[in-house]
Amino acid sequence: MKGKRYLCFCMALLFVCLFLVNTPSPVQGAPFYHGKREEKKIALTFDDGPHPRYTPEILRLLEQYGIKATFFVVGENMEIYAEAAKALIASPHEIGNHTYTHPHMSALDEKALREEIEKTEEIIRALGGTSSGLFRPPEGKKSAVHTALLEEMAYKTVLWSIDTRDWSHNAPSVICHAVLSAVQGGDILLFHDFVVPPNTTITALEQLIPQLLKSGYQFVTVSELLEG
Ligand SMILES: [Zn+2]
Repeated sequence: MKGKRYLCFCMALLFVCLFLVNTPSPVQGAPFYHGKREEKKIALTFDDGPHPRYTPEILRLLEQYGIKATFFVVGENMEIYAEAAKALIASPHEIGNHTYTHPHMSALDEKALREEIEKTEEIIRALGGTSSGLFRPPEGKKSAVHTALLEEMAYKTVLWSIDTRDWSHNAPSVICHAVLSAVQGGDILLFHDFVVPPNTTITALEQLIPQLLKSGYQFVTVSELLEG
């Protein structure tokens, strides 16, 4: 009888351990860097847009391959580039919140961050979009104060596991190498749809997407990735 109880205890402990290993962000309010590693699912993410030229080009490319991505938009750019914003909202992609003015996070108190987030959310809603409940802080910066607020506002903070540094005009071959040498199931890839010209992101994506598909990767939104 004692042995049976011991076995039950060990089994329960094993299940708890497996659960913890499989949970990408076990700490309450902690940012997500990636999803579960078991399946070959990855999420492309695009920050800082929309851009009047590059966002529609990326949308066309994603449509060509029938794949979905997540765009972390800047509210101010949604207002300035309304046509690109409408096209993005009408697309099947997921929209995350990347603040209204893309400020330095260290300069924001709780009230200012709340305003940045809510203003962007209003713009997304006014264009007919819905909130994904995802937030990405500018430059990936975060603090304990912000974590508490985001938790209160029921946002998931999403960072990334692969940084392509495409904003720095890395050559497409460098971007491709950064991805292909490191990619694994569950990865969240950081790209930018708003960059100062010249844009190397789109040429890199034209090469990367077919190679990743050929390697068996499935492209999903961040929410789908985190749901498992
Ligand atoms: Zn940004």
